[in-house]
Amino acid sequence: MRSVYIETYGCQMNIADTELLFGHLGRNGYQRTADPQSADVILLNTCAIREHAEERIIGRLGDLVRMKNGRPDVQLGIAGCMAQHVRDKLMDRLPFVDFVVGPDAYRRLPELLGEPGGDPFVDVRLDKAETYADIAPRREAGVRGWITIMRGCDKFCTFCIVPFVRGRERSLPATAIFDQVRQLAADGYREVVYLGQTVNAYRHDGVDFAELLRRTNSIDGIERIRFTSPHPSDMSAAVIEAMGQCDKVCPQLHLPVQSGSNRVLASMERGYSVEQYVDLVDRLRKAKPGIALSTDIIVGFPGEEESDFEATLSLMRQVGYDSAFMFKYSQREGTKAAKWDETVGDEEKSRRLQAVIAQQEEQSAAINRKLIGSTVEVLVEGPARRRDGWLVGKTLHFKTAVLPAGGGIAPGAVVDVRVSEATAHTLVASA
Ligand code: SF4
Repeated sequence: MRSVYIETYGCQMNIADTELLFGHLGRNGYQRTADPQSADVILLNTCAIREHAEERIIGRLGDLVRMKNGRPDVQLGIAGCMAQHVRDKLMDRLPFVDFVVGPDAYRRLPELLGEPGGDPFVDVRLDKAETYADIAPRREAGVRGWITIMRGCDKFCTFCIVPFVRGRERSLPATAIFDQVRQLAADGYREVVYLGQTVNAYRHDGVDFAELLRRTNSIDGIERIRFTSPHPSDMSAAVIEAMGQCDKVCPQLHLPVQSGSNRVLASMERGYSVEQYVDLVDRLRKAKPGIALSTDIIVGFPGEEESDFEATLSLMRQVGYDSAFMFKYSQREGTKAAKWDETVGDEEKSRRLQAVIAQQEEQSAAINRKLIGSTVEVLVEGPARRRDGWLVGKTLHFKTAVLPAGGGIAPGAVVDVRVSEATAHTLVASA
């Protein structure tokens, strides 16, 4: 048996793809190793969303090539979004890379790898039909299982590289998804998270996302359902209604807004206005009272004036997000916005980023502090990393909570705890 080591960068979809790769390679004569020094195949599953992710990966390749030295049979390769994005540059700049595979070429990987010391290869063809529906991922044991229910994206927001590197939108058959959910339940997972670049655009053979949620809600053994990331434009009345009616769908949603300025949203081609987004938030809050919301924010998009930036700060206050992922705009070659001149300098982008982070931290801390004294339900995941003798888990609202170990509480337990302290990122509870 040959051994494979995979290092994963980027989003949760990439982590799920690594599980898929382990499943597929595992059934084709490869065993997983956690040690690159002893691996026959070393694979970096990469991200192309931001330039700095790519630079990090190039640096890491330099380290790995030193491990490969003296072991000519070892095959070092790159998979994922960056493989698709910069394949030509990769092979020119990094001649020691043996193979490059894009996100739609994983099925062919065992065959392409062939024998030890085989010829270098590149396979980055995008495939409009590939969903890997028949390939079972190999997951680490846990309490939360992630299932990719659709791949690709048709939205083409002007800043985003995803549609170019992951191809067009396609969904898995509902039966293949439910098989995975039942398997997760049988393996002891308590929570399922549906994944997709625009997850609520899911549609296959007449089953839409609302219907998928309803049917998942009736699967025994799974107690919590989440999904990420939905696109505001695909958040139909039917999906909102299903969220409200399905008791297992958690009161928590990551709803990317990107900017609080209609002018910037229009040039990002996001497909909604601030007013429509706020109306959507209102409808979600009616359907799922107390829902916790998080978002993505980009500052310094080309053309973003101070007034646009102020509008973003104002929208963030108005919605009252529980948390946010906030970034400086990073130009990605191949996107529409990459053809436009940057109008916000890096220093100014940094100032704006610091300002949104500071505001959000304050807001997150204030929201969490209101929970002090209340009882929250926590799905326990395992030992807390930074507190000996404590456990960590997530609340229904996807907040991290730590609680004292003991009393027979094991990973997978769902416990009610009383919040005694709170910071912007963590709730401290007493059992
Ligand atoms: S919806 Fe927009 S931001 Fe999200 S993946 Fe598609 S193109 Fe990118």
